[in-house]
Formats: sequence, structure tokens, C-alpha cells
Amino acid sequence: MDVDRYWGDRLATLQAQGLRRTLTYLSSPQGPRVTIGGREFLLFASNSYLGLGTDPRLKEAARVAMERYGVGAGGSRLTTGSYDIHRRLEEELAHFKGCEGALLFNTGYMANVGVISALADQDWVIFSDAYNHASIVDGCRLSRARVVVYDHASVADLERKMASYRGVSTLVVTDGVFSVDGDIAPLPLLVACAKAAGAIVMVDDAHATGVLGPHGGGTSDLFQLGRQVDIQMGTLSKALASEGGFIAGSAVLIDYLINRARSFVYSTAINPMSCAVSLAALELVRREPERRELLLEKAKWMRERLRDLGLPVAAGQTPIIPLLVGDAEVAVAFSQKLQERCIFVPALRPPTVAPGTSRLRISLMATHTWEDLEYTCRVISEIADQLSIRGHEQ
Ligand SMILES: *Cc1c(COP(=O)(O)O)cnc(C)c1O
Repeated sequence: MDVDRYWGDRLATLQAQGLRRTLTYLSSPQGPRVTIGGREFLLFASNSYLGLGTDPRLKEAARVAMERYGVGAGGSRLTTGSYDIHRRLEEELAHFKGCEGALLFNTGYMANVGVISALADQDWVIFSDAYNHASIVDGCRLSRARVVVYDHASVADLERKMASYRGVSTLVVTDGVFSVDGDIAPLPLLVACAKAAGAIVMVDDAHATGVLGPHGGGTSDLFQLGRQVDIQMGTLSKALASEGGFIAGSAVLIDYLINRARSFVYSTAINPMSCAVSLAALELVRREPERRELLLEKAKWMRERLRDLGLPVAAGQTPIIPLLVGDAEVAVAFSQKLQERCIFVPALRPPTVAPGTSRLRISLMATHTWEDLEYTCRVISEIADQLSIRGHEQ
């Protein structure tokens, strides 16, 4: 078999459908302005929501950790790769999330895959929101549990579907903030529904950690849910500007994961430098709440401005602002026209979103200036006119 020809044909099909992806290389740090191919762009595609990617205090923390621990962990956590800084960060994360314990994973993806596959087996039923992140979907598949997908953010559909599975072990899992639509899960109702049926609740707060809630603790913090959420997953890679993922929950859960989460057991420990950066970032989240306040204020302003310009943008409060275009090729053309004006906003297409719902995904940082936002809204509106894209009736 000529494998290159086989894959080449598949790529050609993607190309013909306007679905082929390529990589974009930055040669500057992740900030509101980045350098791509020698040109400066305004970046509206970063998960570094608080703009901490170049913060001198975080860079210093990495430098100090490198001097102390060297450049790599050298082993898995259960062999020779556990360092005192791992324990310190896990204690801080547990405190931050209001839980008894926390466990680090190398990425958020690995945290989701590890916890779900360790927790559930073929005797379990997992109820999963239709828009959950791919890493949750993959964790569910690995677990071999029966997976029941409920309509996006629909507690009514969840309740209806749960009624058919009394008396079995059940897990309800949802994104806290949905990564594509930027909406927030109806957690208080969801938790009440799950608890009434005796289910365990897990929330993926990748996009909410450091962003939402009075303490920046995420959606559980926002809704004051305390320990009603049994499993809180978060990333260090988005607002916290570092890398890695974690699970926070009861001490027994953490102990169990140390023993059974395969993506924890069989992988080299997360780099101590990343831990040091995360500790410094958590400190900033605690000490500088104005960063997330400014971020949310700017997000609110930009959503309203785009809506005032008649563009198809949903109301909401997170820094993820989707602008619905519909057709994949038009979304790509929109993104390319913005790039010609030195504004970088990615187009999301199938399979990331459902066919016919391709969109631009605008994502803000606290460090975008108001002028950046105003300028970008104007350019978006101009291009939308050229492409005949307008909002729903308002
Ligand atoms: C980004 C993301 C992840 C994965 O986190 P990484 O640290 O990037 O691996 C998991 N869930 C959601 C909802 C995410 O947006």
C-alpha cells in the first residue's frame, strides 16, 4: 500500500471541503501583538486571557526554578520525578479550588483522559454535554463506559435521560465555559439534577480558571458551589500562562488517581519550571483581581459593540466571542481578509463545530488596549459588509 498516496488523497478531500488546516508560526511571545512571518499582527486567538505570558515575575520564577531544579523532571511522578515544588503547587491548587487535594498532569488533555478513564468502567454511565471538549470525549471512550450525550446545556434533557438509568454508577461531566461558544454551563441546576439522581459531577474549567468567580477560581467559584462539584479539572495553560493540567477534589479521589490514572502514572512528571510559573501566576490571580475584571469588562464591551454593528454575536460574559458565519469557506475568507489587515482571528470549521455553523472565534486578553478593540470591531464590520454577513434580527 502506498500510504503517502492514501493520506494525500484524504488531505486533498479536506482541501476541497475547505477543511484543511495548517500551522502558523509565531516568532514573538504570546501577547496582544505578535510577529508572524516578520509582520506584526493584533492577536485575537490566545487563551492567555490575563496577558501574563511575558510578565517579568513569571519569567523570573522560571529562571529561579531552572537554577534550582535544572531543565527537566527526569522521571515519572511515582519513580524519581516528584519534586517538592509539585507538592507545593498541588497544595496551592487545592486551596484555590476549595478542595482537599489536587493532582498535576502534564496537560489538561491528559487530566481529562486520566481521570475519566480511571473513574468509570463498563458498568458506568457517563452523561456528557454535546459540546464538551474533545479530551472529555476521548476520556469517555477510553473508560469503556456507556456514554449518553445530552443536548447542549439542557438540564431538562439531562434529567430526562438520567431517568432511564436508575441504580447504576453515573457521572455527569461538562465544560464550565464551553471552548467554542464561550457560554457558561448552567451549573447550579445541573448539579442539583445530578445530585438528585445520585451522580458524581465533574466540571472542566479550562477556560474559567483564573477568569471567572470572585476569586478567579472558575465556575464553581462563580456559582458558589463549594464542594458540590466532586471533580474540578483545570488547566495551567490558559489564563495561568504556563502549561499543565490538574484535578482537584477529595483526598481519596487524589490518592486513587495517583494509583489508577494512566496518563499520570505512565508519563514523565510536569517540568518544575512550569510549576514555578504556575505558582507565580496563582499569586497574581490572588493579588491582582483587576486583571480579570478588566478582561471581562473588555469582553462585554466588544460583544456589545459588535452587536451594535449588526453582527451575529451572542450575548454573554466570557472573553470567548464567536461570530457566526455559517459556511466554512466564507469563515476562512473572513479570517484571511482580517489577516490582510494584520488582525489574527481564527476561523473554526467542522469537525470542531457542526456543519453550517462555521465561525470566527475572537478571544480577548486583559492586555488588549481599548483602541485595539475599537479598531478591530470597525475592520470586522467592514469585511462583514464585503461578505454580506449580518446579524439576526435583534
Ligand atoms: C484547552 C482545553 C483542554 C486541554 O487543556 P490543555 O492544557 O491545553 O491540554 C481541556 N478542556 C477544555 C475545555 C479546553 O479548552
